[in-house]
Amino acid sequence: MTTQFVYSFSEGSKELKDLLGGKGANLAEMMRIGIPVPPGFTITTEACKEFLALGVAPLELEIQITKALRELEDEMQKRLGDKRDPLLVSVRSGAKFSMPGMMETILNVGLNDESVQGLIKQTKNPRFAWDAYRRLIQMYGKTVLGIEGQKFAAELDKAKKDQGVVDDHQLSVESLSKLVETFKNIVFQESGKNFPQDPREQMDQSMRAVFNSWNTDRAKLYRRRERIADDLGTAVNIGTMVFGNMGEDSGTGVCFTRDPATGELGAYGDYLQNAQGEDVVSGIRNTLSLEDLGRLHPEVFSELRGIMYNLETHYRDLCDIEFTIERGKLWILQTRVGKRTASAAFRIAMQLVDEHIITMDEALVRVNGGQLAQLMFPQFDMRNAPKAITKGMAASPGAAVGKAVFDSETATTWAENGERVILLRRETNPDDLGGMIAAVGILTSRGGKTSHAAVVARGMGKVAVCGAEELEVNENEKFAKVGSLRINEGDYISIDGSTGEVFNVEIPVEPSTIVRYLTDGIADASEGKEDGTRELIRSVDRLLRHADRRRKLRVRANADTDLDAAVARKFGAEGIGLCRTEHMFLGERRVLIERVILAKNNEHREEALAALLPLQREDFFNIFKEMDGHTTTIRLLDPPLHEFLPNLADLKVKSALARERNQVVEADERLLYEVEKMYESNPMLGLRGVRLGLVSPGLYELQVRAIAEAMADRIASGANPKVEIMIPLVGSHMELKITRLAAEEVIQEVARERKIELPIEIGTMIELPRAALTANRIGLVADFFSFGTNDLTQTTWGFSRDDVEAEFFAKYLELGVFTISPFETIDQSGVGELLIIATERGKSVNPNLHFGVCGEHGGDPESIHFFHKVGLDYVSCSPFRVPIARLEAGRAAVS
Ligand code: ADP
Ligand code: MG
Ligand code: MG
Repeated sequence: MTTQFVYSFSEGSKELKDLLGGKGANLAEMMRIGIPVPPGFTITTEACKEFLALGVAPLELEIQITKALRELEDEMQKRLGDKRDPLLVSVRSGAKFSMPGMMETILNVGLNDESVQGLIKQTKNPRFAWDAYRRLIQMYGKTVLGIEGQKFAAELDKAKKDQGVVDDHQLSVESLSKLVETFKNIVFQESGKNFPQDPREQMDQSMRAVFNSWNTDRAKLYRRRERIADDLGTAVNIGTMVFGNMGEDSGTGVCFTRDPATGELGAYGDYLQNAQGEDVVSGIRNTLSLEDLGRLHPEVFSELRGIMYNLETHYRDLCDIEFTIERGKLWILQTRVGKRTASAAFRIAMQLVDEHIITMDEALVRVNGGQLAQLMFPQFDMRNAPKAITKGMAASPGAAVGKAVFDSETATTWAENGERVILLRRETNPDDLGGMIAAVGILTSRGGKTSHAAVVARGMGKVAVCGAEELEVNENEKFAKVGSLRINEGDYISIDGSTGEVFNVEIPVEPSTIVRYLTDGIADASEGKEDGTRELIRSVDRLLRHADRRRKLRVRANADTDLDAAVARKFGAEGIGLCRTEHMFLGERRVLIERVILAKNNEHREEALAALLPLQREDFFNIFKEMDGHTTTIRLLDPPLHEFLPNLADLKVKSALARERNQVVEADERLLYEVEKMYESNPMLGLRGVRLGLVSPGLYELQVRAIAEAMADRIASGANPKVEIMIPLVGSHMELKITRLAAEEVIQEVARERKIELPIEIGTMIELPRAALTANRIGLVADFFSFGTNDLTQTTWGFSRDDVEAEFFAKYLELGVFTISPFETIDQSGVGELLIIATERGKSVNPNLHFGVCGEHGGDPESIHFFHKVGLDYVSCSPFRVPIARLEAGRAAVS
């Protein structure tokens, strides 16, 4: 059997997007439900894939096209390019996922020197016929023959000037027919060939051009950015032409069933009278609104409204529709589920629920964590803001305002002096890292969403706009230009990492209403706001609460202080999944910890530890207070040693100076000796975590005692503390076993002293491949596993994040080694596999084990879906990501 490469519009349906592309599948669907679509057929993505692989169209394709074309001609009672009454068609690209503006469309195929006469006779409208013909040559020249569009546009402008008119549609028949000759000459000069007069050749060549447009650089770049697979191919749609350029009773437009920018109810759109195709979006003439259309053509308008309503109910979502009116008759040329902003997504989802079109579960699937995150960033207050001076890629969301600087050094010094700066570079490289850290935002003129600047900025949670191509950055002379507009060092600029817009003024930044809602509740957040904002707040609230009802994963927060804990609770955290204790040893307490690690003898050590105990106890007491009734998982100290010991270089300098002056200090020399002894060339793989606990007598015991005593104090005051102790960087069950026994002894001691019970669970982080692989042993001595996916990613891949992210991640993304940074979204096939192994092996020996993730993946949407699938009990993430995790955990449960 031969493959079917060609489907009539009356054969397909919206389920066939893989084969027919989005546009083709939806055209067929509309035809199926009785919406007026000009008849035609679709050539499948399979045909495209074969064509691209072999360089020629599959043999049967030509024959199948001939057959489909015959049927179309019979139905329309016209022949393609017939000289008396020609059938004209459009040849349109249409991939599975919409790639706006990336690929090609050729209209009016079938016109030639003879059939243009037939069209004139049939329509009695020579102006229209010549206009259609010149458009065909223009589009064909550009798309099929690769002639620069400007060549044609310049002649069109010249014709208008010669005739003294401003708009295309004012051109006279004579000008247009002359333009056709001029265009044909351009084709000949530029391509060395005549514009083909054979209608079928026009059609076949157009189809090939559409196939080939799948592999243009910009299409490839777009796919990489949007993470669309490269091997899908595009379908080609051949459809009967209808004409919006036949006079004042004709026109073309686009519309949305609701406002895709705000989610406001009611139809939105643009309409252009006496126009064809891309005229609407190209901005060559000012468009009319849908209300205007309603006044001009009330009947057509009401038919359109009916269709919009039907399509929305049929697709059960916001639809984006392209239509054309030919002499008062309405035709629908395309529809798809429309793209929308984050706030529109939340509002529309809930509107559809209230209109009984979708269920709450479906509404939950319609929004996502990325959108919620966008709503949680501060935004520019655009009320009095000027227009953007240029636009780049929205590379890392948020709003940033600061003074322009052009090099890393200036960024750092200015920032140290308390200035807010935005770093402007053509592109960034690892040498700019210091400046990027110092800046509040980053703006580059080159590179896309996977450029160095973008990747690093997202990693740091910093606002970035990348690839603002109109911006010329002169790094040496420290200024930038957009056209004639100049930005000097020190000038204020504002950049919006959620839209890519760049402003050359200081725009005030507004805190997010959604964050206000999360912290203070609906009533406070809604006060004094417009209706739309109030609706948004209510929609977010309802969807978050629905997610909470549905999700299986619990959501905890990573919080190290009582302040973080309080924020986390407000954002809905059901406990703390990771309370790091390192920061508790910074500042003045640092000397104490140095003394513990470097202590000469036990006496010194015990003194130092005794001084730390009350401080630690108070830390924990305060956190337990915030988290009363909810679990707090405390991780015992896990410092990279170099962060806690005095700086070796400093000590060396001091000692050398002292020697020169013959004033050697005994204590300094000893310290230098000790620190030198402990110096590590690779601290991330050094004396950390449980290893430090095992070699520093008394250190972990001190922490455990502080935890137990704080818990006892809370119980004594009638509260309900729930506490877990977590041991970091375990690779062997022996490490955990020894540590656990010692901890239990301390807990028992405190319990006896206080005469109460202290039910504290003791578990471990799983952050080394060896721990995952030996989980069947570790599981015997642990009450829970918490996957430290940051370290687990580092140790599985064998690279350290701090070193590699700036060095080669951008290159790896470009090369396709990664499609996304494994620190952003969990690497399912590697790190994820270890997670599955550890869970299975752990459960097999200890059915009571419970499992969580702490680490940044705990707040990443895609990773959360994976953790749900693996069946973990909870994720823990930074307080700010808690609402996002709640939403995504709910989505994972219903999708
Ligand atoms: P895109 O994928 O960029 O939206 P389309 O294939 O939708 O490109 O074509 C662009 C425009 O060309 C359409 O919006 C429509 O106005 C016009 N067009 C396409 N096919 C036809 C047709 N059969 N009759 C009239 N106009 C058409
Ligand atoms: Mg379109
Ligand atoms: Mg770790």
